[in-house]
Amino acid sequence: MSILVVGGAGYIGSHTVDWLIDNNYEVVVVDNLSTGHQKAINQKAKFYEGDLRDREFLNNVFQSENIDGVIHFAAFSIVPESMKSPLKYYDNNVYGMNVLLEVMHENNVDKIVFSSTAATFGEAKHIPITETDEQIPTNPYGETKLAMEKMMHWADLAYGIKFVALRYFNVGGAKPTGEIGEDHHPETHLIPIVLEVARGQRDKLTIFGDDYDTKDGTNVRDYVHVMDLAEAHRLAFEYLQSGNESNNFNLGSSTGFSNLEIVEAVKEVTGKDVPLEIGDRRPGDPSTLIADSTKAKTVLNWQPQYDSISKIIEDAWNWETTHPNGYEDK
Ligand code: UDP
Repeated sequence: MSILVVGGAGYIGSHTVDWLIDNNYEVVVVDNLSTGHQKAINQKAKFYEGDLRDREFLNNVFQSENIDGVIHFAAFSIVPESMKSPLKYYDNNVYGMNVLLEVMHENNVDKIVFSSTAATFGEAKHIPITETDEQIPTNPYGETKLAMEKMMHWADLAYGIKFVALRYFNVGGAKPTGEIGEDHHPETHLIPIVLEVARGQRDKLTIFGDDYDTKDGTNVRDYVHVMDLAEAHRLAFEYLQSGNESNNFNLGSSTGFSNLEIVEAVKEVTGKDVPLEIGDRRPGDPSTLIADSTKAKTVLNWQPQYDSISKIIEDAWNWETTHPNGYEDK
C-alpha cells in the first residue's frame, strides 16, 4: 500500500516524501511542477507529473496504484499573490480539493492529511491560537484553505472520508544533511529572503511595516522546522490508519519571533550583516500568529526535535550556501 503525496515536489511536500521514505513507507507523488522541483522528489518515490484538477489523470493514478491514503500539499500559498489574484487561488486550491475528494470517493480511499494554515484564523482574538478559536481569514489564501477544511468536513459526513487538517504556522529550515531545501521563484518568505541578503544576493531586506501592536512594531510569527512538520504528517497519517475520527491540529513552537528578531537571529547564526529598510504594511498580514500546539503533542504525540530558531536558520543557511541557485545547482 502506498501513500499518495499530492504536491510532493514542493518545499514541505518534498521533505515529507523524503521523511516517509526514510521511515519505510511506499510513496507515490503527484505534482504539476508549477512551483515544485522534480529534483526535490526522493528517487524512491514513484512520480506522476500532472495536475490534480485533471480528473482523468488523477483517476488513472488511483487506478494504477494501490493507494491507502493521501497527503495533500498541492495548493498555492502566497498571501500577497492571493490578494492580487484571488480567483487563481479558488481555482487551484478549492477546485483542486473538489476533484481530489471526488476521485478519492470513487476509488474508495478514505484518509486524507491536509496541509492547512494559521492563515485560516486571521487576526487572532487571543494568543496563542487554539484549534477551537474562530476562523476569520484576512486574505484569499486563508479563505481558500478554510473552504478546503470545510469541504473535507462535509465529505466526511457524506462519504466517510476521514481527514486531519494540520494548520501550520510559519515553516523554515531544510533537511539537516542539506540535499533538499526551500526554493521558490520568486522567493517571498522572510527567512530565505533575509538569508539572501546576508549572502549578498540581495541588497537589502524590506520589512513590511513597523507600526503593528507588537513588541517592536513588526509582525510576530511562530516558526517550525520543516522536518518537524514532516514528522507531524507521518503521525497524522498513522492517527487515521488507527481508525480515529477526523481532527484539526495547530502546529507551531508556541514562541513568537518578530520580523526584526528574525533578522537579529540570522545575523547571529551567519555572522553577516543584513541591511534593511522599513516599508509599507503588506496587505492581508495579521499582526501576530502564535500556535498553541498542546493538542498535537497530546493526541498525535508530536514531539518537535528542532525546537529552536537558530537550528531552523542554521539548516536553511546550510541549504542556501550550498545551493545558491536552488535546485538549478544540482
Ligand atoms: N516579510 C517582510 N519582508 C519580506 C518578506 C516577508 O517583512 O520581504 C514579513 C511578512 O510581512 C510577515 C513575515 O515576514 O510579517 C512572514 O512572512 P512570510 O511571507 O515569510 O510568511 P507568511 O506569514 O505570509 O506565511
